[in-house]
Amino acid sequence: MRAVTFQEPGRVEVEERPDPEPLAADDAVVRVDASGICGSDLHLYHGRIQIEPGFTLGHEYVGTVVAAGDAVTGVSEGDRVLGTFHTACGMCFFCRRGIYQKCDEARVFGHGATLGSLQGTQAELALVPRANMTLRRVPDGLDDGSALFAGDVMGTGYHAVVAAGLQPGDTCAVIGLGPVGLCAVMVAQAAGASRVIAIDTVAERLDTARSLGADPVHATEEDPGAAVKAMTEVGGVDLAVDAVGHPAVLDTACRLARKGGTVSVVGVYAERVEIHMGIVWIKSLNMVTGQANVMGHLDSVLAMLSNGRLDVSPLVSREMKLDDAPEAYEAYDRHEALKIVLRA
Ligand code: NAD
Ligand code: ZN
Repeated sequence: MRAVTFQEPGRVEVEERPDPEPLAADDAVVRVDASGICGSDLHLYHGRIQIEPGFTLGHEYVGTVVAAGDAVTGVSEGDRVLGTFHTACGMCFFCRRGIYQKCDEARVFGHGATLGSLQGTQAELALVPRANMTLRRVPDGLDDGSALFAGDVMGTGYHAVVAAGLQPGDTCAVIGLGPVGLCAVMVAQAAGASRVIAIDTVAERLDTARSLGADPVHATEEDPGAAVKAMTEVGGVDLAVDAVGHPAVLDTACRLARKGGTVSVVGVYAERVEIHMGIVWIKSLNMVTGQANVMGHLDSVLAMLSNGRLDVSPLVSREMKLDDAPEAYEAYDRHEALKIVLRA
């Protein structure tokens, strides 16, 4: 089979790899019909997060089950499925408390040895461990491009807002309008936010946010702090979302949140970062961080994608061939497209 592999910072390749086979009784093998490229893949692509050369990338996927071990009961061969970006055992201390993303045996697709040595899904076939937990049937009528948002991007947008406790009537600022930030904008709207302020530097992404009903603010041509002050009654938002993963953005999020407000950090961090603890402390901010609990949110997110309450079709801006992955990564890195979907 063909697979998209990391080679060195700034370079991926399409290489031949052996076809995967179920190893454990609860493994499945999925023929991948569509796989997304994510901002998290860019961290690997840039070398900010380390991964072994030759490792297969990708963790957003929709496909068809072509093989399943005896203990796989949730899905069957021939089923059209989508999966979460990580696996979970369902039985450990953390899973029993519903904190699936922190499962003791969690493995993240396409992130190398540090996150469980699980080959990625930007490939013709993918081995899916713990299939009863990881996979769901795609609801009838949901297209591939939308379904693959459920297991990562929309689950993360949902987490950014819902796990951070946004209430109807609250104000929300989202910094970073890639697919994750735009999904957070959509969820905040659906959850009844009274105002959503959307901050980025890419004109097309600001336009998309405006079309979703948000108030766009250019991160460098305008002053986000002044804009948020002018648009809120108490000088800050109830919820500020960092959907970038950059220290300057985290710092801005802490400044945009109101006293007693919440900062939701779904942007990825793997390094030491300095934030102004004085601001966090004096303002009594709450902070929600870490990988999103996409498994915990999966059924709610799928229901909202199915009934159209959340419509991600404006975010799927390009479909490309798996063989064109090197060009796809370059285009995504240049912010020329939102979600790029690769097809074998
Ligand atoms: P993306 O790269 O497509 O989008 C990032 C956006 O941030 C871009 O539009 C960029 O212009 C903008 N940006 C960069 N610096 C900025 C600044 N200083 N001010 C304002 N905007 C700025 O990425 P994405 O796919 O939308 O993912 C966003 C983040 O979420 C990434 O860090 C990704 O790794 C992370 N992520 C986390 C989880 C999780 O489980 N927590 C899951 C998926 C993705
Ligand atoms: Zn992702």
